[in-house]
Amino acid sequence: MKDLKDIKFWLFDLDNTLYDGATKVFDQVDKKMSKFISEKLNVNIEEARKIQKNYFQEYNTTLNGMIKHHKIDPDEFLEFVHDVDLSFLSKDKDLEEEIKKLDGKKIIFTNGSRAHAINVTKRIGIDKLFDGIFDIRDCEFIPKPSKEPYKKLVESYKIEPQYCIFFEDIARNLKPAYELGMKTVWIKNDEPWAAKYSDSDFINYKTDSLAKFLKEINELR
Ligand SMILES: [Mg+2]
Repeated sequence: MKDLKDIKFWLFDLDNTLYDGATKVFDQVDKKMSKFISEKLNVNIEEARKIQKNYFQEYNTTLNGMIKHHKIDPDEFLEFVHDVDLSFLSKDKDLEEEIKKLDGKKIIFTNGSRAHAINVTKRIGIDKLFDGIFDIRDCEFIPKPSKEPYKKLVESYKIEPQYCIFFEDIARNLKPAYELGMKTVWIKNDEPWAAKYSDSDFINYKTDSLAKFLKEINELR
C-alpha cells in the first residue's frame, strides 16, 4: 500500500460505495425506475423491467437508454427515481473520521444526480467533507464506464491521475480510471453485474470496508 502514500485526489462513487450495499438503497431506486418506465411507456411492470435491464446493459444506465430511445426529460427521470426513503441510512462515524483526515481534493463521481448524492451523504454525516460532486449532468448524461466523463472530470478538477485513487463497487467502472493512470479500489460485493470483471488487472486493490481501507492509508502518513 506504500504506493498510496502520496495520493492527493480522492474519487468516490456514491451508491454502494459510500454506504453498504446491504442497505439496499439502490433497490428502491431500481424499483422506481421500473415504475417510471411503466408509466411513461404505458407498459406493465414486467415489461418495464425488461426494458430497464436492456438499457442498463446496453447504455450503462437506464436513463441513457430512455434519453436515446424515448427523448425523456432527464431531470424528471432523476427526480422521480431518486425520491426514495433513506431514513434507515445511519451516520457513519468511522467513515467520517477517515475522510476528514485525507489530504487533498475529495470528489464524488456518480451516475446518479447531485440531489441524491447530497441526500445520501447528509444521512451518513459526511456531506460537508467533499470538494465537489461530479454527477450525471456534469457527465452530460454519458455515464461511467464511458471514457468521456472521466476525462471531463480530470479536466474540471485539474486532477493529476498518478496521484489519484478511485473507489467503486461496479468493477468495470474502474477500468477507464486505471487506463488514465489512477489507482483503483474495488468495493467487494456479491451483485453479479457489479462483481463482473473484479478479477481484472485494472483493479489495484479490493476491500470489504471503505472506512478500514482509508484508515490504513491514513496510517501510512
Ligand atoms: Mg455504485
